[in-house]
Amino acid sequence: MKVDMILSNGIVVTMDKRLEVFPRGAVVIKDGQIVAVGPATDLSGRYEAEQAIDCVGQVVMPGLINAHTHVPMSLLRGLADDLRLDVWLYGYMLPVEREFVNEESCYYATLLSCAEMIRSGVTCFADMYYFEEEVARAAQEVGLRAVCAETVMKLPTPDAASYDESLEYCQRFIAGWKGHELIVPAVGPHSPYTCTPEILREMARLAQEYDVPLLIHLSETEGDVEGTRQLYGCAPAFCLDDFGVLDSKTLAVHGVHLTEEEMELLVQKSVGVAHCPTSNLKLASGVAPVARMLDLGLKVGIGTDGPASNNDQDMFEEMRLAALLAKGTTRDPKAVPARIALTMATIGGARALHLDHITGSIEVGKQADLTVVDVDVLHITPKFDLSVDNIYSRLVYATKSADVRHVLVNGRLLMKDRELLTVNVDTITAEVQRIADRVNVFLMRREESLLDKLVAIGGLEWKETFEVQVKGSVEDEAVVMEGLIHPDISAVWSPSVRDQYDAYLLFADASQGCIRHREDNVVREEGGVPESIRTLTLTGSGSEQEFDNSVLLSRSRFTSKADRTLRFYCEYFEPDSVKEVHKHRQRWHIRYKGVQFAVNLDRLTKPAHEGAFLEIKSRTWSKKDAEQKALLIGELLDVFSVDRESLLKRDYVDF
Ligand SMILES: [Zn+2]
Repeated sequence: MKVDMILSNGIVVTMDKRLEVFPRGAVVIKDGQIVAVGPATDLSGRYEAEQAIDCVGQVVMPGLINAHTHVPMSLLRGLADDLRLDVWLYGYMLPVEREFVNEESCYYATLLSCAEMIRSGVTCFADMYYFEEEVARAAQEVGLRAVCAETVMKLPTPDAASYDESLEYCQRFIAGWKGHELIVPAVGPHSPYTCTPEILREMARLAQEYDVPLLIHLSETEGDVEGTRQLYGCAPAFCLDDFGVLDSKTLAVHGVHLTEEEMELLVQKSVGVAHCPTSNLKLASGVAPVARMLDLGLKVGIGTDGPASNNDQDMFEEMRLAALLAKGTTRDPKAVPARIALTMATIGGARALHLDHITGSIEVGKQADLTVVDVDVLHITPKFDLSVDNIYSRLVYATKSADVRHVLVNGRLLMKDRELLTVNVDTITAEVQRIADRVNVFLMRREESLLDKLVAIGGLEWKETFEVQVKGSVEDEAVVMEGLIHPDISAVWSPSVRDQYDAYLLFADASQGCIRHREDNVVREEGGVPESIRTLTLTGSGSEQEFDNSVLLSRSRFTSKADRTLRFYCEYFEPDSVKEVHKHRQRWHIRYKGVQFAVNLDRLTKPAHEGAFLEIKSRTWSKKDAEQKALLIGELLDVFSVDRESLLKRDYVDF
């Protein structure tokens, strides 16, 4: 019988149901499919092959399956490491992605990742990113098999200004690629907490309508489990089930913090899991309970996660780590033996991705997705045949990706004798570096300016440029009360009482200004729930002009809602010092001679200070107007009988 190719005389590790190994085996390929596998002596005489590859001293195994990655993120590899997940994501990845992720960068960065993955013996990967059309196009050109999930979330993404656009892109993408021989289009709702119930329901509907996989991050960190619970009131896997997400060909990524009940639910729903040990360690998310998942019968594959959080896409390394971590965390050396680790990286990944009818093992009828590795090399020597497990030990614990010699997908050689046949590495690396150089300049500029860093995390408003203010010591509230009855004063708003906790992020270079994080707790009367508002304000420093009775500050003021923690801002802005000022404030908005002022009666609790301060201030966009207001402040000091000797023209933080 005439065939296209025969690989013979290697150790054939099939990863089929019986885990058959042929010590001197052969694999026969015709029209991209495996047509025979068995002992070389049985097969070699029966086929006339166009191309014969002698695999003596080598292992022929199923190609590795990278069950979760974000391939275009190779563009961002090594950009910002050793950071907490939120700082890494919101401070660096998202701002750079907004600026640089486009069709071109996704295409080249995908080619780079594909080249890297082929070299480490990968024949199939599951991706989640933006411009998935480009990811699919690049993977297809290179010849790799890929599940390409267009990422959808409630926030604007680099390829969609709104969720509606994302959804449209996703639908168009799936319709365009459905049925392709290498590319499986898929839907990728980012995670429960970055989506809404409507998005999750719609994604599930789309996945079912087109019968395509659905890929979603699940329970990666304790923080996102908590966030999901707060949003939906139940454990993440259960809320996904409520929205119909688990009724698709679903792959849940990470699962680090899944409960026993959630794992059981995933088994029942036949959901796959992608375990990403390096990424979980690097971002300090924790370690997924993989041994327990396997015990319960979950379909678990292994993924590298994106190259920005790994930082490579080396599946040999990932497989070894998966085996070792499971032992270390369970204190059981029998947990995840090498055989199981290799299963997860091959047929397990195919099952998790619902692709096991096509790839993942060397079996007749499956596509010829194969990896051939050299094992007669120094660091894998010697060899034993004591047990069938010896070969798995050699592959998982000793083999390096550099030992990969040939890689085939659909029977087509993508790498032969370590030479990549479908990608030009020089061109790709040059293109990616060209884009990276621009990212470099962008971030270097941003790091020089607090304002740019603040802008990068979004939601900024530009407030009044000028502020006139003065403070004076007063005995107590009675002073204010007496002043307020003055005929020229009318109260604009009813007074409020608040506890303000300010943290000032200060920088050695004072010309940069400083950042104030304020937690403003409005105290309600009659035991009402206090309202807490958190803001972030960047102010310039220094005074513009001093008057006898007040000071004019000229400072651009930018403010935004502080929707992240103070810890986040400290790690993101890296101030030289942080000063805290806590005060109890009674505030009146008054109108004096038709001009609006804020009158605050403040008692400092940190640093503690005897007595109270009366602060009068007003803000404006105009310097002329500010000067007018400074004159009126002089009059107001008399109205409130403030002793001129006690005047302070500084902010509390400067005391
Ligand atoms: Zn991911």
